[in-house]
Amino acid sequence: MSESISRRTSRKIRLKNLFVGGDAPITVQSMTNTDTKDVKATHEQIKRLVDAGCDIVRVSVPDEESLKAFAVYTSSFDIPIVADIHFNHKLAIESIKAGAACVRVNPGNIGGKERLTEVVRAASDFGCAVRIGVNAGSLEKKILTKYGKPTPEALAESALYWSKFLEDMGFLNFKVSIKSSNVIVNYKAHMIFAEKSKAPIHLGITEAGIGLYGVVKSSVGIGALLMTGIGDTIRVSLTGDPVREVEVGNYILRCLGLRRDTVEIISCPTCARRKIDVEVLAKKVERKFGNLHIPIKIAVMGCEVNGPGEAKEADCGIAGGKDFSLIFKKGNVVKKVPNHEALGALEEVINELKEERDAG
Ligand code: SF4
Repeated sequence: MSESISRRTSRKIRLKNLFVGGDAPITVQSMTNTDTKDVKATHEQIKRLVDAGCDIVRVSVPDEESLKAFAVYTSSFDIPIVADIHFNHKLAIESIKAGAACVRVNPGNIGGKERLTEVVRAASDFGCAVRIGVNAGSLEKKILTKYGKPTPEALAESALYWSKFLEDMGFLNFKVSIKSSNVIVNYKAHMIFAEKSKAPIHLGITEAGIGLYGVVKSSVGIGALLMTGIGDTIRVSLTGDPVREVEVGNYILRCLGLRRDTVEIISCPTCARRKIDVEVLAKKVERKFGNLHIPIKIAVMGCEVNGPGEAKEADCGIAGGKDFSLIFKKGNVVKKVPNHEALGALEEVINELKEERDAG
């Protein structure tokens, strides 16, 4: 049985210089939570998101002043910037003209089919993608009346309806998001939709919450769907610094073998054989190597006796000892160094791995 995920065949769309769907790698996105009008703070946050490995950044455009600032972001970053619009279709159109790579609208609150049509026409004229958002909180009255509440069937029906609406206009450069804060409703709605549509899917669990609970809820909700092959771009929604969303999103993809350009750091749970503070060492390794864009697995192990053997699948790592650490590569010990030299020695091994990889 294959150990890799077989992805659903979706349509490939374009967000400026980046593709979503089809055979394009699954991307990680996030959203700024600064005041869009505050150019300094928002610019800085987008930069931090990019540095953390974010592929697509979404920015709210709630008013005219935000629109002016939005144009600054689209002109100063290479990565696709998505305009997030609610209620005001004119702002959607102006954001498209201001260089949005994609505009996110919820048909349920944009003001009817005519206004949505105007937005889609502008997107088509300016080579902008559209994200159709179907949220449990903004379902059309007709569908809510039919199902009584935002059931999976209701969410999928709304998403299919609006997808067909855009397809009938001849516009295919769109993706779909279906959002419920209920992980099971979310899962079932996607299963129904994915079977009947080729549109690429933006995955996320809305209002996942704060701290560890939000991380786990998003990982379960997004991870379960990714494992079935559904999902072309993901956003982890967490209350707090959006950089965390990117880190978690990348980890979800990395765990599933869906993102091959990031470092994965594993560490042992420790036991009575532990010779060092594994948590402290693992954090140092994370700080030093966590943002490298190379596909390697680094292990941090608590003892020299079992460490390298237990981390056989890692590419390299450190097994801590009382005074000396063992540095291992592909399960073999390659160096023994004083503890304070361990990170430097690990870096040398990582560089060797990079060179070997580059040499094919
Ligand atoms: Fe225990 Fe050593 Fe295994 Fe860590 S690597 S769990 S310290 S035996």
